[in-house]
Amino acid sequence: MTMKLYRSQALIRPDLEAHIYSQALLSNAASLKALCPRGTKFCAVVKANAYGHGIAEVVNILAGAAVDFFAVASFYEAVHIAEMVRGRPILILEPLMERTSPDQVRACAHYGFHCVAASPETIGHLAGLLTGGDKILDLHVNVESGMGRCGVEEQCAAEMIGQIDACPNMRLSGVYTHFATADEDDLVYAHEQLERFGAFVERMHLRARPNVLIHAANSAATIKMSGAHFDMVRCGISLYGYYSRATANPPVRLQPAMKLQAPIVQLKRIASGQSVSYGRSFVTRRETLAAVIPLGYADGYRRCFSNRAVMKLGDCIVPVIGRVCMDQIIIDVTDAASPAIGQMVTVIDSDHESPCGVYRLAELADTICYEILTCVHSHVSRIVH
Ligand SMILES: *Cc1c(COP(=O)(O)O)cnc(C)c1O
Repeated sequence: MTMKLYRSQALIRPDLEAHIYSQALLSNAASLKALCPRGTKFCAVVKANAYGHGIAEVVNILAGAAVDFFAVASFYEAVHIAEMVRGRPILILEPLMERTSPDQVRACAHYGFHCVAASPETIGHLAGLLTGGDKILDLHVNVESGMGRCGVEEQCAAEMIGQIDACPNMRLSGVYTHFATADEDDLVYAHEQLERFGAFVERMHLRARPNVLIHAANSAATIKMSGAHFDMVRCGISLYGYYSRATANPPVRLQPAMKLQAPIVQLKRIASGQSVSYGRSFVTRRETLAAVIPLGYADGYRRCFSNRAVMKLGDCIVPVIGRVCMDQIIIDVTDAASPAIGQMVTVIDSDHESPCGVYRLAELADTICYEILTCVHSHVSRIVH
C-alpha cells in the first residue's frame, strides 16, 4: 500500500493528569447494555479522542469488555485503533465519497473497516475500485429521517442497497439513522424520526436479513427510547458517565470516567487591592494567597471560566481569579488548609454534583458536556486506574 499514514511524535505533559477510571467505563457499558434486549449489540463511540478521555486508553479498557463494535469519526482514527480492538469491527461514521482516494478505499477493505457510503455515485466509484480484488468492503447506509446531516434520502438509500447487493466486492452490513433531538425533554420529533426509519426498514424487508445490522440509537435514545434499540446501540457520552444533559432521576446510573488534575507550581501572597492576570478583571479585596496552576485555555480549560469557575483543593473549593491564560490559571487558596507547591488541584471533577463537575462547567460556558470533555487536550497524560 502506497498511502502515507502519518504518525506524529506526540508531546505528553506528565504534570497534567487525566485520571481515567476503567471501572466507571465498564460499569457504564454494562448498565447501558442492560437497558437493551438480550443480544442487542453495543457500539462504543470513541471519536474525538474518546470524548477527550484518550482513545488508546479507552479502547484498551473496552476491548476487554462486552463491546461489539467501535465507532470513530474518521478513517485516521480507525487506523490508529485498528491493532487495539482485538478483532472488533470499527465503524467509520464519516462517509466515503467519490473523492475519497483509492488508497483509502482499499485500506478500508484491507483492514475490514465498516464504512458509510455517501451516495449512489460513491457506490459506483467504490465498485470500480474494488472489482477484481479479493476483499469485500462492509458498507452501512445512513438513511435520512430528520437529522439533516449526512443521511441519504430514502429513495437514494434504496437504490444504494440494490447497488451494494449487486456488487460481489461489497456487503450490506448495516442500515442506520441518527436522531436530532433524542436528548431533549420533548421526544415528539425523535419519535417521528423513529417511525420514518422503522417504516423504511419494513419496506426494504431488512429485518429478514440477519447480517444487516439495523441501528439508530445514540446515548439519549438508548436510555429513553426503547423502541429505537434495533440490533445495535451507539453510545458515546453515556459511556463516559454523562447524560446528554443533566437529568433529574435518570433511569440508569452513570459514573463519570475522568478527573483532571494539575499541580500548584507557585504560591504567592498578594496584598489587598492588587489586580490579578490579564486585563485586571479581578482585584483582591483581602490579602490573598494565590496559587498558579500550569494549565490554561490551550489545554482545554475555557477562557470564559475566568472569575467564574472553581476548582477543588482537597475538599476546599477554590475560585479561579482573574483571566484564564493560555497556559496558566490563578486560584485563590487563602481559605485552604495548607496549600503546598506540588499539591494536586482538581480542575474537572468526576462527580455529577461537584462545583467543578462537567455539567457545571458546561453551564458556565453555555455549552454541552461533550464540549467540556473533548476540549481536554491530548497532551494531558492519561492515567488509567
Ligand atoms: C457521535 C455519534 C453518536 C454518539 O452520540 P452520543 O450522544 O455521544 O451517545 C452516535 N451516532 C452517531 C452517528 C454519532 O455521530
